[in-house]
Amino acid sequence: MIILVLNAGSSSLKYQIYNMSDESVLAQGRVERIGMEDSILTHEPSGKTEVRQVSEILDHNTAVKKLTDLLIDREHGVILSMKDINAVGHRVVHGGESFKHSVIVTSEVKQEIRKLIDLAPLHNPAAMMGIMAVEANLPDVSQVVVFDTAFHQSMPQETFLYPIPMVLYRRHKIRRYGFHGTSHDYVSRQAAMKLNKPLESLKMVTCHIGNGASCAAILDGKSFDTSMGLTPLEGLMMGTRSGDLDPAIVPFTMDKEELTLNEVNSMLNKHSGLQAISGFSSDMREITDAMKDGDKQAKLAFDMYTYRLRKYIGAYAAGMNGIDVLVFTAGVGENSVMVRQAVCENLSFMGIELDNERNEIRSKEVRLISTDKSRVSVLVVPTNEELIIARDTYQLVRESL
Ligand code: ADP
Repeated sequence: MIILVLNAGSSSLKYQIYNMSDESVLAQGRVERIGMEDSILTHEPSGKTEVRQVSEILDHNTAVKKLTDLLIDREHGVILSMKDINAVGHRVVHGGESFKHSVIVTSEVKQEIRKLIDLAPLHNPAAMMGIMAVEANLPDVSQVVVFDTAFHQSMPQETFLYPIPMVLYRRHKIRRYGFHGTSHDYVSRQAAMKLNKPLESLKMVTCHIGNGASCAAILDGKSFDTSMGLTPLEGLMMGTRSGDLDPAIVPFTMDKEELTLNEVNSMLNKHSGLQAISGFSSDMREITDAMKDGDKQAKLAFDMYTYRLRKYIGAYAAGMNGIDVLVFTAGVGENSVMVRQAVCENLSFMGIELDNERNEIRSKEVRLISTDKSRVSVLVVPTNEELIIARDTYQLVRESL
């Protein structure tokens, strides 16, 4: 079965096409600057030369048309005809309380995703545009939606509610949802497999730290708590997002700096985190490079980032009455030896003992980086959100045949 995976943003569309017989990626690519005159389509077919086209792509519909044309192109294509695509899987950021699992797209599902636009005004409309674009270009193909929030729907009330008037939850569904669910789900399973133990028997903290960052407490194989909340702004310090802060800072800053709601929102989402403290970058590579050159602000940003993550790990260990496994994943988690070392350094009281040599090894494999004596197993697990979307799509479509 051939499956196309789409991840639609408001002005971008990323794609990967899989042959599910061996889960190989036939091609991947992205369309950027949708809506502009100089949109860029980058197509990387496996074993063939990469293509980069600059042209006017005004909407997602045209983006899907252009990318599917490339998929069947004589020179750059990877399939013979559109009919070879059996199903399309979409990443959808917000599934609210309606979606606890991935589902096949129906008119009811589309209606429900539209209803959730209030909760994810930037993300869900883009996913809808992706779905509609596939309907227009590949009308006979089954579509599946995979939600970032679904895995965290197992959180109990005491972790998902905010201590604010209950009427806000009842009326507007203001609660904690959590994101990066496909990744937390996948890496926790991979970690249990590597340790050769049943997932349900392990108390786990998974740290998905990329540009966006969140960690999750996984108990009995299910998400028990996670650091992101109603939106992906809560929790850890991130590249450009603040993460946790005193909510009183919002009205106080609006008053003192005469900021509008949009401005304060943009400050916390786009101009905070590593970027704000270092003063020059949201990229952990650049932060650690500058630290090595003695940059004090970079060091402060790094120390705040790792301290805040360590606090969450401690909190989740307390929440679950212990921890057996700590997992690092995503861009920073998979690659930054220094971040992993700094986070684990002060967790020896909890039985976390990093093996510095193992931590230095660079690899794309699942690997153990704690010592053999360490009570807690620390692992690096490369995440693969597109593959999980492809697998869910494959499974649901097969079941429906
Ligand atoms: P996204 O959240 O956009 O999917 P990624 O998971 O790809 O992001 O993570 C991107 C982040 O990973 C960037 O901040 C980048 O600095 C960081 N990163 C990638 N490689 C390294 C590295 N070798 N050392 C430190 N950070 C790295």
